[in-house]
Amino acid sequence: MRETGEINDRYQSLLRSRQLSDVVQPYQQFLKQLPDEKTIQAVVARRRLQIQAVIGGTDQDWSDWKWQLKNRIRDSRVLGKILGLSELETRRIDRVSQVYRWAISPYYLSLVDEDYENSPIYRQAVPDLRELLPGGSLDPMNETQTSPAPCITRRYPDRLIINVTNQCAMYCRHCQRRRNIGEQDRHACKDDILQAIEYVEQNHEIRDVLITGGDALLLSDRMLDYLLNRLYQTEHVEIIRLGTRTLVTLPQRITPELCKIIKKYPPIYINTQFNHPLEVTPEAKLACDRLIEAGAVLGNQAVLLRGINDRPYIMRRLNHKLLQIRVRPYYIFHAKDVKGTRHFQTSIQDGLDIIASLRGHTSGLAVPTYIVNAPGGLGKMPLMPNHIVHLDDDKAVLRTWEGKLVEVPNRKHG
Ligand code: SF4
Repeated sequence: MRETGEINDRYQSLLRSRQLSDVVQPYQQFLKQLPDEKTIQAVVARRRLQIQAVIGGTDQDWSDWKWQLKNRIRDSRVLGKILGLSELETRRIDRVSQVYRWAISPYYLSLVDEDYENSPIYRQAVPDLRELLPGGSLDPMNETQTSPAPCITRRYPDRLIINVTNQCAMYCRHCQRRRNIGEQDRHACKDDILQAIEYVEQNHEIRDVLITGGDALLLSDRMLDYLLNRLYQTEHVEIIRLGTRTLVTLPQRITPELCKIIKKYPPIYINTQFNHPLEVTPEAKLACDRLIEAGAVLGNQAVLLRGINDRPYIMRRLNHKLLQIRVRPYYIFHAKDVKGTRHFQTSIQDGLDIIASLRGHTSGLAVPTYIVNAPGGLGKMPLMPNHIVHLDDDKAVLRTWEGKLVEVPNRKHG
């Protein structure tokens, strides 16, 4: 009798396993269509040679973050030479650049593949005429009215942001803080940073400080060391976070010297922004490895962008690749209604569909929280596909990840 039961259990398990394998097949097929890692790296190496042929620089220069920063590409003719752009395309870039600045690190530009117009890297980096379309706000989060001290943005009870610079290795075309980019790179002056630190010191409920910009890691090692040290000495500050996209756009910034500084002030959480699987490169992995060895905890805050990562399988691939380099997918941000970025916007339903395509289909670790920011700086709103079909004092009817309806009791006992 028992044997029959076991055979039946095994048969049912095999049947279920077969069903589950079938569910993942379309994604497996999708992966087969992608170029393999070797092919991608060969394309990147070719592009890098093209860049070096135009702007110069040795291989040693290439791995020096200061060289990368100094040699950011910001002239449409130089970009045109590297990518083979037409005269019309360079003129369009010039037109947009009269309104919005652009600059691309040579490293990030080397990730643009041959079909440059459709490249998710090109689209994030190179000005597009649609940036000049009307609509959107330059400050949808009302940051200018949530700044109780220089450099500070405070929107929540126990945490705040210190904005230390407007400089970035690459000026993302979808940037939600593009009003800060301005015409020139500018670090906050020491006096303003001191006032920000004093504000934190005087407000004992602040237990979590996010240093960002621009890009927090574009501060000099010396300034960063000073700032981290002051916050670390502040008893009520329990954790420090750093907002940086250098892991994606300038991984050379993560030097052993920087890591020595990071190691002194645990716990440090680093939030970065990988938006596409092509950004997860061997250089990015090395940067993450170094930071993790220095004790930092890494999380990713992707932005959902039309034409870049708004397809569910791209997002799944991105999250899987991030877990492989020990970066936890943390948030997917719905793009805010920022002036000049509307062509990147998706619908909220697109975001919900992506979460539905992840939940249950892959490890919970690979499922970030989808966030819509309330306009006016009123805070983050996490959104989930609706799993509750019915709820009363007695029971709940819930929808599983496969769409099956199940009933669970909803009673307090005792
Ligand atoms: S790195 Fe961040 S702050 Fe800098 S341009 Fe990109 S999105 Fe904006």
